Parts: sequence; C-alpha cells; structure tokens
Amino acid sequence: MTRPYNPNWFANNPLMRLNNEKDHRAFFDASLNDPQSLLVPLWRGDPLIAGGKAAFLSAAAREEFAKDALVLMLGVKDGCAYFAIDASSGPSSSTTEAEDAPFADIGQYMPIREAAGLISRDDLAIIGQARWLTEWHRSHRFCANCGVLSDIIDGGAKRQCPACERVHFPRTDPVAIVLAIHESACLLGRSPHFPPGFLSALAGFVEAAETPEEAAKREIFEEAGVRLANVRYQFSQPWPFPASLMMGFIADAEDRTLNLDTDEIVEAKWVALDDIQALLNGEPRGDIFLPPKFTIARHLLERWAQQ
Ligand SMILES: [Zn+2]
Repeated sequence: MTRPYNPNWFANNPLMRLNNEKDHRAFFDASLNDPQSLLVPLWRGDPLIAGGKAAFLSAAAREEFAKDALVLMLGVKDGCAYFAIDASSGPSSSTTEAEDAPFADIGQYMPIREAAGLISRDDLAIIGQARWLTEWHRSHRFCANCGVLSDIIDGGAKRQCPACERVHFPRTDPVAIVLAIHESACLLGRSPHFPPGFLSALAGFVEAAETPEEAAKREIFEEAGVRLANVRYQFSQPWPFPASLMMGFIADAEDRTLNLDTDEIVEAKWVALDDIQALLNGEPRGDIFLPPKFTIARHLLERWAQQ
C-alpha cells in the first residue's frame, strides 16, 4: 500500500489500525499472548530509548510491569501487533521514579522532543500515537455525561460508560498554524514560553463552530493585528502534546502593519525569504532561530522557501 507523502514528523504512522476488527477482546488477548507482539513502553509519556533507538519489548516483558499497568492496542505492522504499555501506571506510580521503572536499566525514558531526532520517523509516529492514547485514558477515566468510571473498550480505541452506555472517543484538538506572507517576507512570532530569538509561525485552537481557515484568519488578527486573505491549506501533523492536530496554512497578508497582543506574542517580525532560505541551510542570520525539524512550522517555512 502506498503511503501518502507528508513531510511532518509524527505523521505517516505505519501501523494498520484495527477499527474493522469484529472481536477486539479476542484479538487483544490472543495478540498479547503472542510472543511476536511488541510493547511500546512509556513513562509518563516518555518513550524508552536504548542505544539511540526506540526500545520496543517482547509481549512476554509485560510480566515486569505492574499487574494493572494500562495496556492499549495500537495496530498491526507486518503481522506483528503493537501495544502501548504505561510504565507509570499501577499501584505504586505516585512514588516510583523513571529510573526505577521496568527496563530503565537498558536505556532511558526520554522526553519525546529529545528522542525525536534520534529514532526513526516510523517509530516516532508509533510513539506519538502511544503517548496520545495513554494520556487520553489517564485523563478521561470518568464518563463526561454521568461521572461513573468508564470501561476501556475495543482494545483502547474508545471508552464506554457502564451506567449510561455513552461511548467516548479519544480527544483531538484542532489547531490552525499559519505562515502569513507579504511579498517576499513571512511573519514569525515568539510566544512567551519560547526562549529569545526562537520564532515560529503563529497558531491557535479552532473554536466551536469554526472552520480552520476562519480560525487562521481570526488568530492572526487577534495576535498580530494582521488581516489575511487567500488562506491555503498545506498539510497536517498529529501533535501528541497532548492531543492536537496541527493544520498548516500559508496565507497572504494585506499589509505588514503589526499590532501585537503581548499576552500571546512577545515579539513578531517580517523575515525576508533570503534570510529564511539561509537559516534553513544552516547559515546564521542575526539572532533568529527557526523551529526544529519535528515541527510543522519548519515544514511550512520549507514549503514556502521552495516555491
Ligand atoms: Zn455515563
């Protein structure tokens, strides 16, 4: 099967999801007892990295984890089933440190942003899915309708309330991220939690009853005072921090006048195409730093710079 090209990291997940499986319970149990199956261990969302690679464990390794550790089915690749296992769940999770977690002696539970540049893109996509799902189950245990503790169903693809029978699906928060263009310059900004000099495309959550194109226009006007036209969708990126779908746009700005909302953006500037091309080639340009390669903002800049 040909996989669609998407330059964004965390995209292009190689696993086949099992939404068409008729008997999830039987498949889950059989796969978890199959020595070919693999566990993707996470400690509070951090993957286990050993020898510069993602450490996926044999299904038999489950015995080393807490008996009630959260186990979720992710999908199948080459006949091999993949499960996320939460090394930080279980009765002693509040006191145990990552160094004491199962298999910490063969590597290190490492923040995904640090691991992203080490491991393969396929493994990163799988780990992103594992982090997303484990975080959703951890934070959505109770029915939003009636408050009763809900059950994991379909191998972890959903939860269902045993009292009111409401089915709950993993949350996805859509975000519009926009590279605003005016002639041969693009607008980059810095939010308060970025270090000085680190600039990125502006972004914001899509709000209720809003299209991502409308959100793109609204956010750039609210944050920078810039009006946009011709908002053009480019590509998307799953962003498991914890559950965002980044939708990337390039759009035309009416002019370069800036009126910043300094609560959201502490600095913004129009950066010339020449400077962006130089920075993408690794050449320094003053005190500007572009977003890292695992971000969709970087790929929006690359796409614009190649045009
Ligand atoms: Zn309920």
